[in-house]
Amino acid sequence: MKKIIALALMAAATLSTQAQTFPGTKPVTLVVPFAAGGPTDRVARDLGEAMRKVMGGSANFVVENIAGAGGTIAPARVAKAAPDGHTLLVHHIGMAATAVLYRKLAYKPLEDFEYLGMVNEVPMTLIGKPQLPANTYRDFENYIRANAGKLNIAHAGLGSASHLCGLMWQSRLQAAEAMVTIPFGGTAPAMNALVGGQVDVMCDQTTNTTGQIEAGRVKAFAVTTARPLSSHKLLKDYPTLNEMGMRGFDLTIWHGVYAPKGTPPAILAQLNDALKKALKDPEFIKRQEGLGAVVVNDKRVEPANHKAFVAGEIAKLKPVIEAAGKFAD
Ligand code: ASP
Repeated sequence: MKKIIALALMAAATLSTQAQTFPGTKPVTLVVPFAAGGPTDRVARDLGEAMRKVMGGSANFVVENIAGAGGTIAPARVAKAAPDGHTLLVHHIGMAATAVLYRKLAYKPLEDFEYLGMVNEVPMTLIGKPQLPANTYRDFENYIRANAGKLNIAHAGLGSASHLCGLMWQSRLQAAEAMVTIPFGGTAPAMNALVGGQVDVMCDQTTNTTGQIEAGRVKAFAVTTARPLSSHKLLKDYPTLNEMGMRGFDLTIWHGVYAPKGTPPAILAQLNDALKKALKDPEFIKRQEGLGAVVVNDKRVEPANHKAFVAGEIAKLKPVIEAAGKFAD
């Protein structure tokens, strides 16, 4: 009995030492599954700065972009990283979508990670290159049908948010051969190609598109949420796909933070606390809201709630992706 108590005390002491010394002078790397300059990267960079402010002292956050394979390389890397709190994953809905889309993944989204909490929810926008003749969603659809087989749609790889949006939209459009898909390492390079007119169409998070829409560098045709974004000064002007005849179309992207399985509970608690505080940083909130995103409340940052939400998303996306059939790859 004495031995058990001694062991328990030793374990508790180790945990509190870990928490006291974390993060120390070693940076915390936020691994992003897509290219720098895109929407997931932007969330990670802003979040890293907000968490640095909250943690104070020598806390230091850096972002590492490990793009490729529809955002599945980065989670595989983080799942195998040292579980010491210094390597975290910032990912989006792809954490759930890839679990449905890939028969073989090098990691188990629900089992190989410690869930730290959700960050935000972000609508998507359907956009086109500036040279497209259409100016309204109706014209856009007609143009696509009239040019079947000649247009292409960019995305960030199989299982990315842009891919998911594109497959859901194309399956509802019922213009099967309308567009050729072109994968990129993230929607930052895809956006460059769209602005440059090398690709025709894309669906992407508003955190990446609002600036380009406002500057007139791309054309926006619709938003993907069930309800119009009436409180956003720019996005309120665009119809929902739901209103445009695609009844029930509702796609919102979310971002979350994850640590490798086995990260000590005291460090997880410290990171979760910093995450909750960072999400209340007025500067972070202002930036996110300006880009059409909504920062979530404390309840959704609870690890167990976030994990249950991701499990629910996997279940919800399964029939949607299956219904989209051939558009899934
Ligand atoms: N928005 C991208 C996606 O479609 C990812 C990114 O570049 O952040 O998943």
